[in-house]
Amino acid sequence: MSSRAAGLCAIVHYHEISLKGGNRPLFLRHLQQNLLRAIGDLGPVKVVQLPGRIMLDLAGHPDPPGVYERLGRVSGIANFALAERVPSTLDAMKHALERALARKSFRSFRITARRAFKTFPQSSVELNRVLGAHVLGLRPDARVDLMHHDLNVHVEVLPGETFVYCDRRPGPGGLPVGSGGTVAALLSGGIDSPVAAWRLIKRGCRVIFVHFHSVPYLPDVSRDKARALVTQLTQWQYFSRLVLVPFGEIQREVVLSVPPHARVVVYRRLMVRIAEGLARRAGAAALVTGDSLGQVASQTLANLGRIDEAADLPVLRPLIGMDKLEITDQARALGTFDISIEPDADCCTLFVPKHPGTRMSREEAVLSEARLDLAALVGAGVDGAVEEIFDFPPGAGVFPARSPRVSQSGSR
Ligand code: ATP
Ligand code: MG
Repeated sequence: MSSRAAGLCAIVHYHEISLKGGNRPLFLRHLQQNLLRAIGDLGPVKVVQLPGRIMLDLAGHPDPPGVYERLGRVSGIANFALAERVPSTLDAMKHALERALARKSFRSFRITARRAFKTFPQSSVELNRVLGAHVLGLRPDARVDLMHHDLNVHVEVLPGETFVYCDRRPGPGGLPVGSGGTVAALLSGGIDSPVAAWRLIKRGCRVIFVHFHSVPYLPDVSRDKARALVTQLTQWQYFSRLVLVPFGEIQREVVLSVPPHARVVVYRRLMVRIAEGLARRAGAAALVTGDSLGQVASQTLANLGRIDEAADLPVLRPLIGMDKLEITDQARALGTFDISIEPDADCCTLFVPKHPGTRMSREEAVLSEARLDLAALVGAGVDGAVEEIFDFPPGAGVFPARSPRVSQSGSR
């Protein structure tokens, strides 16, 4: 066995990227760069682009389980596994199978062989049969079951080497962060907006977070929740900006001149205008909110329409068709749920009427704001905003690095 082909590696498969035509190399470059960032602090890794997959060479790596855990949060990955690399000969494959199965207990199994090049002497079907027979020789009590197996052993045959592995995990899917442009997400301390932001991260966007708080009118809890949520979500995009906007004074102005039933929509319209000012400064091309149709009064079709009219940038609402239970499940999986349910007084609980309107008309919206100095209020929000930065792994700094790192990639 050549030393080059020997050893532990991670095999990363992507799906949507492979559907890209001429832009595929661009998406792959983002994915390679993100992989390096996601696991770079755990130990030295070589990223190798192979036909249809990426291999992370982990020979001598101090923490392969750590790598495995981090790969679960790299968007663009369809599935991944820790694998053994061996030369593409039947003997080497059989020995790798023996090692892969050594400590596994299973009653049924299947071999899933794939040839990435068709000149290998055996077809995939023949490989399944030959390698399956070899496993049966080692474990006479086991049986082959193609549909309902305890263990699926993958054998991926490439020209220079073969990868053998068992525990393949699904990745998040989606597209690599950085490939989809920048958006500004309105992040409250609630359950929904972190999930909404994450869905855009998963689609390849870099998300800037904008949080409105009412310090000193309310205790300073919501800012800390926003920080905790951004810390959690930064694990998915490696570098985040959180923009904290003082909103209490603006709400006081609203209370002085806007009738109670119209206030929530007016708050939202002001938030959207301020977020848009901040988004433009940061080069973001859209806003993101955690609205889900009909969930509360400000999220009826009519009121969402009024909120959209305050913005020139598109307002993306990835949760619009999701139920609360679906959103909650997603928040739990992301690790944001426990942070979101910490009690706090969100700025929207300040000066909120008992009976907010559900069907504000366009004329009513304009009329409700007639006595507000909108430009001054938006200016105060934008100018009063304070930015904090977050990175992952902690201490790794800005990402993408100002001078782009060269990813080690090649094809065999
Ligand atoms: P969430 O759980 O995201 O707070 P929600 O169901 O409580 O959502 P609302 O309070 O009506 O709904 O807020 C709707 C959306 O408006 C939020 O998802 C978020 O995008 C934005 N938003 C509300 N409050 C704030 C805030 N204090 N700072 C930033 N964005 C906010
Ligand atoms: Mg809320």
